[in-house]
Amino acid sequence: MITIEEARDAIRQQAHAIRETERIPLDLALGRLLAAPVRADRMDPPFDRAAMDGYAVRAEETASPPRSFRVVGRIAAGARELPAVESGCAAWVNTGAPIPPGTDAVVPVEQTRGDVQTLAAVAKGENVLAAGALIRPGDAVAEGVLTPERVAICAAVGAQEVTVRRRPRVAVLSTGTELSDEPEAHQIRNSNGPMLKALLAGAEVNDLGTVADEAGALEEALGRGLNGADILVTTGGVSKGELDLVRPTLEALGVKVHVHGVQLQPGKPFLFGTAGNVAVFGLPGNPVSALVCTDLFVLPFAAVRAGRGFDDVLLVRRARLTGSLAASPKRRRVLPCRVRGDLVQPLPWRSSADVYTLAHANAYVTVDIGYHLAEGAEVTVLIPERHAARGGV
Ligand code: AMP
Ligand code: MG
Repeated sequence: MITIEEARDAIRQQAHAIRETERIPLDLALGRLLAAPVRADRMDPPFDRAAMDGYAVRAEETASPPRSFRVVGRIAAGARELPAVESGCAAWVNTGAPIPPGTDAVVPVEQTRGDVQTLAAVAKGENVLAAGALIRPGDAVAEGVLTPERVAICAAVGAQEVTVRRRPRVAVLSTGTELSDEPEAHQIRNSNGPMLKALLAGAEVNDLGTVADEAGALEEALGRGLNGADILVTTGGVSKGELDLVRPTLEALGVKVHVHGVQLQPGKPFLFGTAGNVAVFGLPGNPVSALVCTDLFVLPFAAVRAGRGFDDVLLVRRARLTGSLAASPKRRRVLPCRVRGDLVQPLPWRSSADVYTLAHANAYVTVDIGYHLAEGAEVTVLIPERHAARGGV
């Protein structure tokens, strides 16, 4: 059986960014990767713009305050017609208004009295944002992943549609004869499918629902999953039982298996394969195992497909354990824990089926084979970016 790192390396080797692009409305583009830098369509500001409420003047005429000016106009933001301002005159301007021809500075209203006497000298250009001071036509203004800040920039330069990389298409299939939406006593509900959809929310997810551990039905469902997807994720049916049919069925469909079985607890039966451009992740059915394998293997691969880095999605931090963690003799443990500040708390796992204790998990601590971790030990914590974004809550 191979190590976690060997499995991750095998997966990393098969991961390539999707190059295809699509044009979508800016409204729908948050979080998407821009295919090319967005460029400014014109200069900003497009005109010499008042940066304060006050009076637009010729700066040289304010040199020895106090000084009286005749007010020849009142200019609001958005005004099209501007009065000509002769020597000895001023125009009231609101913040954001174009300053009129003949003027080159704004005396803030706080430094004036009446209508109007200026009480302070201003330098040429003071309280004015000159045309083109922020950006020139053709300047690259936004690239990379569209954050809310970059959405604002795209809107400012008129990019109401943007060209982004196509998102990975992920098919999710939950296998297991025991799965039912309205379970009788001998059946259970499917929690892995909804969990995977939520974990992969940044991708285009095609939920294939559930399928029984039955050769024909499984072959049909897996066949659908391989068709048109970049990534197929299954749960269940990859262990050693006689009804664990996922591997042979995938192989019958032409999938080449690169990894099956990892020195990992929970998550030992994990499978990874490829069929042409489609990557297949066979996760164990136990919910905690499925989650651990998704964070260690699926999300890093999906990140690369989406144009990001394999190591971008699990952040590494040091923290001090508030309890002890026992090692396993044969497998490295990757245990969901709860990190808060620089402390990390082990969680009271009852089984890999313990989906309920996951409620408190926001990070992982790894326990190397044979090395028990004592309370107070300083350990490396892996934090999925979805939790890191919240500062570890
Ligand atoms: P398997 O990997 O098929 O051996 O399943 C391991 C355990 O996970 C069994 O107890 C299954 O009933 C359970 N399991 C399998 N699939 C799911 C699922 N989609 N949601 C919740 N539990 C599941
Ligand atoms: Mg099963």
